[in-house]
Amino acid sequence: MLDTVIIGAGPAGMTAGIYAARAELSHIVLESGLMSGGQIVNTSEVDNYPGLKGTGGFDLAMKFREHCDLCGVSFRDGKVTEVKKQENGFLVLLESGESYSAKTVLFATGAKHRTLSIPGEEEFAGSGVSYCATCDGAFFRGKEVAVVGGGDVAIEDALFLARICKRVYLVHRREEFRAAKTLVNRLRACENVTFVLNATPVRITGTGRVESLCVKTAEGERELPVSGVFVAIGMLPNTELLTGLVPLDEAGYVLAGEDCRTGVPGIFAAGDLRTKHLRQVVTAAADGAAAIYEIEAFLNQQ
Ligand code: FAD
Ligand code: NAP
Repeated sequence: MLDTVIIGAGPAGMTAGIYAARAELSHIVLESGLMSGGQIVNTSEVDNYPGLKGTGGFDLAMKFREHCDLCGVSFRDGKVTEVKKQENGFLVLLESGESYSAKTVLFATGAKHRTLSIPGEEEFAGSGVSYCATCDGAFFRGKEVAVVGGGDVAIEDALFLARICKRVYLVHRREEFRAAKTLVNRLRACENVTFVLNATPVRITGTGRVESLCVKTAEGERELPVSGVFVAIGMLPNTELLTGLVPLDEAGYVLAGEDCRTGVPGIFAAGDLRTKHLRQVVTAAADGAAAIYEIEAFLNQQ
């Protein structure tokens, strides 16, 4: 039986791996994606991780992984489909049919994109509707696009696209932004960016490819003549596996404090999936470290 199974190899899971290996806990880090790194893999630049200013998201993820490998962290590919309580711990089941028994489980499964759920979004996903500007932006070089959202991701996406697209419409449902003021001010200074505020997306239309985003404003409906719609309206926690297992808040985040302890002894939660105000690489990494410290304390008490 392992001391701990860590589910997810994003910044939280990889940091937990480093701390677990250094603490000589028997462990395994399970990752369902094609590579380690989590959400950060898809961002062009991470400007706020201490000591590594301006590092590309992919490069930062690789640095985390190299550090893990140097410390002897054990990784396995695989999607966890269920975690069951056993007499002296937990059974972690994978899609492949494999399973691991462990005294503790650390969930570090992060979060995924929220969708607009409007007509056309699903139909044009991958052919005009995108959730990743850094991945798909180049397909829209010289074209007109819309970015939906008012958080850091939407503003960063719009800044990135403004460099390569003819025009960027920034569509946001309010006038105030969640995004950092510095980012919003940088976007306001771009001549080819049009702010469409107090506007709610209604439908995406086109023949075979996106030709228009219709938004609803106080004045009525307005058609934006775009060939790309970048949806950046936030995330949903990957906590399906935890539903019914540990207490979650109304939005589905795991109720856990800085010690990453959940409502169930032996189950821990680190990173974006737990209740917190600031979801960042640095806070996810901090959680990974704190969680292993608490897991060690938990194991010592057993
Ligand atoms: P994640 O990064 O979401 O990693 C979770 C991992 O768990 C994933 O690899 C996933 O595949 C895996 N997983 C999920 N379910 C399972 C399962 N059932 N079985 C196995 N594996 C599973 N933060 C900053 O500090 N600076 C930035 O500049 C910045 N830019 C960002 C840009 C974008 C576009 C986005 C989306 C986010 C950005 N963030 C930034 C936020 C930052 O990426 C997150 O806060 C951070 O990645 C959270 O780390 P995490 O380990 O909690 O979760
Ligand atoms: P976010 O901060 O939650 O912002 C989501 C935005 O989408 C909000 O403006 C919200 O509007 C809007 N929205 C939500 N649902 C919508 C809907 N159905 N229709 C239209 N608009 C909708 O999410 P995020 O921008 O993805 O950022 C996620 C986390 O990563 C944040 O913690 C962020 O700080 C972090 N991050 C940090 C950086 C950085 O530090 N440089 C970069 C990227 C991401 P309302 O405002 O009206 O609710």
